[in-house]
Amino acid sequence: MVKLYAESILIGSHWQQDKTLSINAEGIIVSIEAGKDSQAVQLDGPVIAGMSNCHSHAFQRGFAGLSEYRSGHNADDSFWSWRDIMYRFVAKLTPSDVLQITRFAYLEMLKAGYTQVAEFHYLHHQANGQSYGDPIEMSRQIIEAAQQTGIGLTLLPVLYTYAGFGQQKAALQQARFVHQDDAYLDLLSAIQKDYPQQKNFKLGNAFHSLRAVSQQQLTELIPILKKQLADAPMHIHIAEQAQEVADCIDFYGLRPVEFLLQNFEINHHWCLIHATHLTSDEISGIAQSGAVVGICPTTEANLGDGVFPAAEFFEQQGRWAIGSDSHIAINVSDELRSLEYAQRLTRQKRVVLVDAKRGYLSVGQNLYLSAMQGGSLACVPHNKAPSSNEIDMAIQVGQRANLLVLDPNHPSLFSKQDHFILDSAIFNASQLPVKDVYVSGQRIIEDGQHPQQQKITEDYAKVLKRLLV
Ligand SMILES: [Zn+2]
Repeated sequence: MVKLYAESILIGSHWQQDKTLSINAEGIIVSIEAGKDSQAVQLDGPVIAGMSNCHSHAFQRGFAGLSEYRSGHNADDSFWSWRDIMYRFVAKLTPSDVLQITRFAYLEMLKAGYTQVAEFHYLHHQANGQSYGDPIEMSRQIIEAAQQTGIGLTLLPVLYTYAGFGQQKAALQQARFVHQDDAYLDLLSAIQKDYPQQKNFKLGNAFHSLRAVSQQQLTELIPILKKQLADAPMHIHIAEQAQEVADCIDFYGLRPVEFLLQNFEINHHWCLIHATHLTSDEISGIAQSGAVVGICPTTEANLGDGVFPAAEFFEQQGRWAIGSDSHIAINVSDELRSLEYAQRLTRQKRVVLVDAKRGYLSVGQNLYLSAMQGGSLACVPHNKAPSSNEIDMAIQVGQRANLLVLDPNHPSLFSKQDHFILDSAIFNASQLPVKDVYVSGQRIIEDGQHPQQQKITEDYAKVLKRLLV
């Protein structure tokens, strides 16, 4: 049994003092008691729950910063021109490259305060589209990267079959991503066989997008997947780009979210990544379904996707999580702050994303706890939807001990009363001032450092040198 003592800790949605947490071998908090247990390790700073990163393409960390250059005389750079750069980078990657880049991205995530990551993994095959001799070769690299760094992983192998609506044949650049249904189910089975679920590893599934899978595939596979991966999260990219919405209307006569809600039972197992372009009916439809929206504010800003209608969605108690997606930033504060600032700029108002109905009037604390709650739902199998009126996945008995100890010596936290800590950490520090990070009760980051960080960084530098120079 691990015992940790905190002078100040955010339990549920309330700051409390002088508490000892007991954590079992599965990394679950089994008791929270007043006072300091004589066996307990003291946590030197305010303690909050770790954040879940609901959307990562880890390999994209390797070309962050290479797509900020106008392409020739083309003044129309967009998501689609970014995607061409991404495809050129993907073509060069070996399994070993994927391991090194992913390991580095996960190291950065841990240091930033993410304790769990959902990896939306579509880079499955060799460059010519042939499967590796071991079809789960690339999945193994990602699992290995998570194990070596200590982050909790939710692996979401992605089904990607077509280049566009109407079952357009995948292009050569997409050959590394493509599966037909049977091969995809075999891939999931092979991962399940070699990697049973445990405290720091969960398996879910993802459909790349409505562009890349057909209605027939969704109809046939969803019931099979619900059996094969009981209660597991099911993710999909949806309504990220205006062009994608227009193409969906052309083909199905419906907007992407409208199409999903009308044709499938969308519930708390689903995570709708981006869901940027929404009508008011779609906003209410998602909120009522219990699905989580995966918002990736820094990536969406970087790609020029659009602004998620957060205030309208939050007013309806919609569930949401944050993802670092393309990894243009791996920074919890930046994601949450960007979400709020987009609302302030477009509304010309301050302090927008609070939850007045529930009395959560601190933007920072409201954003942090809601994103943490939605992230947990999007990353870990749940057999029932959590209640909507309490923060029941924060630090609580029965929850995993994913904890951050904030640095009390960071200037943003000097002399701050508890109820200002998260506002200060998010709005007044360039990134969360994280001192120590615990995943399932085990300390992974100590004083801002990871024991393997030098080697992981050197290996990452070697990979980039080969790929970019
Ligand atoms: Zn994505």
